Amino acid sequence: MATVFEMIINGDIPSTKLYEDESLLVILDINPVAKGHSLVISKTVYPNFTDCPVDVLAHMMEVAQKVDLQLRGKLGCDGTNIMINNGPASGQEIPHLHIHVIPRYKDDGQSFGFTKTKYDDGEIAQYGDLLRL
Ligand code: AMP
Repeated sequence: MATVFEMIINGDIPSTKLYEDESLLVILDINPVAKGHSLVISKTVYPNFTDCPVDVLAHMMEVAQKVDLQLRGKLGCDGTNIMINNGPASGQEIPHLHIHVIPRYKDDGQSFGFTKTKYDDGEIAQYGDLLRL
């Protein structure tokens, strides 16, 4: 079944487009964390981050950087969160790769809701050994 983003790309449902080229689309998120919350969406369906070729990812990040500058310049936001929810366990609702660019303001009271944890003694080195690329 087509994702919501495929329907938008195909023009089957409306969206507020900020930018479009041959490989991606930028739209406003319909349920924004803050007004101006934008989504950089690949036109080809890659369900998640790992499926996406690096040249496409690089272009998506290039455009996300322009969106970030636009949000700062036009809305006067103090910062942005630039994020990819990667897989259902991370909160990804739509299995079609997209980058969120979310305006943030000093003391806006928003948070990701993450609770941080701690390593036991010596455990950070073990994780380092396990994960070193
Ligand atoms: P994610 O949880 O990372 O998959 O994010 C999906 C995002 O798509 C959510 O922030 C939704 O608010 C947004 N969204 C869902 N449907 C639409 C739509 N029709 N137009 C714009 N944004 C949408």
